[in-house]
Amino acid sequence: MDIKVNGISKIYGTGDNRVVALDHADMTVNGGDFLSIMGPSGSGKSTLLHIISGLDAPTSGQVLYGARDIHKGSDQEMSAFRRRKIGFIFQQFNLLPVLTARENIIMPLLLDRQQPDEKYLGELTQLLGLDARLNHLPHELSGGQQQRVAIARALIAKPDIIFADEPTGNLDSKSGGEVMKMLCEIREKMNKTLVVITHDPRIAEMAPRRFTIVDGKIL
Ligand code: ADP
Ligand code: MG
Repeated sequence: MDIKVNGISKIYGTGDNRVVALDHADMTVNGGDFLSIMGPSGSGKSTLLHIISGLDAPTSGQVLYGARDIHKGSDQEMSAFRRRKIGFIFQQFNLLPVLTARENIIMPLLLDRQQPDEKYLGELTQLLGLDARLNHLPHELSGGQQQRVAIARALIAKPDIIFADEPTGNLDSKSGGEVMKMLCEIREKMNKTLVVITHDPRIAEMAPRRFTIVDGKIL
């Protein structure tokens, strides 16, 4: 599925507090693309990703998934669409501390009243090197392992598109490199669209299509 970002702007606050986080951003993501968006802190990267993925609404402009405007429709429709089509990976992992790795991974399915496909779950956890770690709580895992659990969680509903917001930002360079390598392998093997946001040029260079964002403008 292709994604078209048409003239997205996002303005926070008013008066002296007014911030133009995105300024008429345009972009196309084709099905199967792997692209990176690089920019300094505060340039609007997270805002862009949240709006493309429907987590947040733009002030103006639209985001089309095929013919569907992701910001139109009921909240219920939008969240069902997101749950099934989009996987999201955050810098801070966002695992639930009282759930095991396995429980964290399958949580999105349980919220959607579905049962996990055990064969697929096994394949994912093997690709991510998590087989021996599934019954551990997040605090018993390294940062890299926690992010790999978060990747499995992002993929468990078999979404077409993965968005990652500085996925290696909380990791040392070795485990960050491992995480990115696995993410790239999974993308290729499972034929996913992957959009990675980063301020690390080494991560950005892994993607064949690269964008830069400065002051809310995509260059
Ligand atoms: P990045 O992810 O590139 O660091 P962000 O998208 O988080 O940048 O933020 C872009 C700009 O918008 C920054 O100036 C930030 O302070 C501002 N901003 C982000 N979220 C909010 C918010 N909820 N309210 C007000 N300003 C915000
Ligand atoms: Mg950010």
